[in-house]
Amino acid sequence: MGKTMRVELLGKSGEELRALMVSLGERAYRGAQIYHALYAERRFDFTTMSNLPAALRARLAAEASITLPRITKRYHSTDGSVRYLLALEGAASSPAAAPTSIETVYMPEATRQTICISTQAGCPVNCHFCLTAQLGLVRNLSAGEIVGQVLVALEDNRAKLAPQTNVVLMGQGEPLLNYEPVIAALRLLLDPNGVGLSPKHVTLSTSGIVPGIERLAAEKVRPKLAVSLNASSDEQRNAIMPINRKYPLSVLLDACRRYPLRPWEHLTFEYVLLGGFNDRGDDARRVVKLIASLRAKANLIPWNPGELPYQPPQPERIEEFRRILTEKGVPAFVRYSRGQDIMAACGQLALLETPALLQPSRASA
Ligand code: SF4
Repeated sequence: MGKTMRVELLGKSGEELRALMVSLGERAYRGAQIYHALYAERRFDFTTMSNLPAALRARLAAEASITLPRITKRYHSTDGSVRYLLALEGAASSPAAAPTSIETVYMPEATRQTICISTQAGCPVNCHFCLTAQLGLVRNLSAGEIVGQVLVALEDNRAKLAPQTNVVLMGQGEPLLNYEPVIAALRLLLDPNGVGLSPKHVTLSTSGIVPGIERLAAEKVRPKLAVSLNASSDEQRNAIMPINRKYPLSVLLDACRRYPLRPWEHLTFEYVLLGGFNDRGDDARRVVKLIASLRAKANLIPWNPGELPYQPPQPERIEEFRRILTEKGVPAFVRYSRGQDIMAACGQLALLETPALLQPSRASA
């Protein structure tokens, strides 16, 4: 049977897999077994799904497939982080489409690993400090392609995994502009019978897509939310994030105020410090006014010199900015641009072939 006629299992929910088994004349619970094997045990070869009868394994091998993103290159950082270039074989709706490249970053630490995943190939949002923006939107990723990045990164590091896995949706793309597949992937990641991550360890970062924030607020299963702020006034934000013209600060912060935080939860505001542009004491004081009434913290991300026309902030400006926020009751943390600090934000993933990209300032959203 040709590959194009096979049914793709990666990205399917437990319910979809059960329905699929029934449609094949099998018992529904076989779908639950495949679900567990796929997402919890990371078995991607039907012959290793030993809890299934041999005849079903053979049938699945002939009629179904599990298509993980394919690693085409690994860039190793001195701090242990790995940036993966991954090839996707084609849009789920159009398997004949040309392969698409995306990036995923794996960041190990002593007690946990953090995996930064992409939700779109390229990005349509056009934040001016972000290299990904220069790719434009190539296409949306499917739920399987999104969850597949986590599975590939875990599998590639299987022998040395720490007990805790964090996932950040901060790679290529604006997650809230690819809403349905992103939510479907998050349900697989956050399901205790699926990949089994804690919602405390998964963060979705947005450039501020207000309708998406409002939809996310109504989800039963949801990750933590980070908002890429990067400016202290509409005028300033318009200059670097054109999305602000559509969802200006007052509208964005209203949506943040209405966002239902769980008892353990804080909103995170990402703030890329661009030297001489948004890093003055007055900016910090305006940021305090914007977010002090929210249960929120700020991640300050100093800009690194790169290919875009911005300056890094002076160290004393960074410290002053942090101090003003903290003194006014806004917890603020400086995320320096080492590999592991990629978790602080998204952007800067532009399929560049040079390992130098492992040390950029991670832009935001
Ligand atoms: S910062 Fe995020 S939302 Fe903005 S262009 Fe880059 S990838 Fe897109």
